[in-house]
Amino acid sequence: MRKCLLFSCMILLMYSCKKDNSVNPEVLPNGYSNQALGKSAMDILSASTYSSMTIEVQYMPGYMLDASTIANLTIFLDSICNKPGGIVINQTQIAANGNTFTVDSAAITERKNRTAYTAGHNVAIYILVTDGFDTSLTTLGFAYRNTSICLFGKDIFTNSGGFGQVSRVALETSVLEHELCHIMGLVNLGSPMVVAHEDAAHLNHCINPRCLMYYAINTNRALPGMAGNVPVMDSSCRRDLRANGGK
Ligand SMILES: [Zn+2]
Ligand SMILES: [Zn+2]
Repeated sequence: MRKCLLFSCMILLMYSCKKDNSVNPEVLPNGYSNQALGKSAMDILSASTYSSMTIEVQYMPGYMLDASTIANLTIFLDSICNKPGGIVINQTQIAANGNTFTVDSAAITERKNRTAYTAGHNVAIYILVTDGFDTSLTTLGFAYRNTSICLFGKDIFTNSGGFGQVSRVALETSVLEHELCHIMGLVNLGSPMVVAHEDAAHLNHCINPRCLMYYAINTNRALPGMAGNVPVMDSSCRRDLRANGGK
């Protein structure tokens, strides 16, 4: 896939998302954060239990998320999540790793570094941005627990910003928004479907190839009203989030 990008700007970059519900080797000190993917969907979407939210981003050297990505993320979450107490996004650097990354190694890194946990009326989400890559070469990120996401920073850099490639901000934003929607319960993963739209061949993804929650996100598609070629959620996905406490 990457090879093709070198030869033609007409070939679209796509990536398959990987989700993981397996048990992690490292148990987090905060019990709330050890639950399966999708378990906190309503907590993240609604204000009934948690009226504010903290997003802790930890990146390995060289892979800090772009300021515009953070700005996009803020707008995206504000448009979906009912958090009258506010949504705070913090970004800090952690030690380099440089190896390939698996769900287990992401969980171990999270255990070692994460500082923000759900407490009181504040729900906390952890986003790890690694300097390693996934051995499958097509996965740019995955959600692996109820409030945990891993992005392959190196793969995102490699697949963006060059000739014929999508911008880095657009790719970072697309992967982040897709994975965040998994922890918000899409598709059929904690936010029940209002109308059936789950892709039977790729569970927990939307059947609509133009939707943000399609299993292989096409990050080079220009959509009306969206600058930077970031795919948008379709009405079926949006309805599920609203029905589970979202805006
Ligand atoms: Zn996915
Ligand atoms: Zn959808």
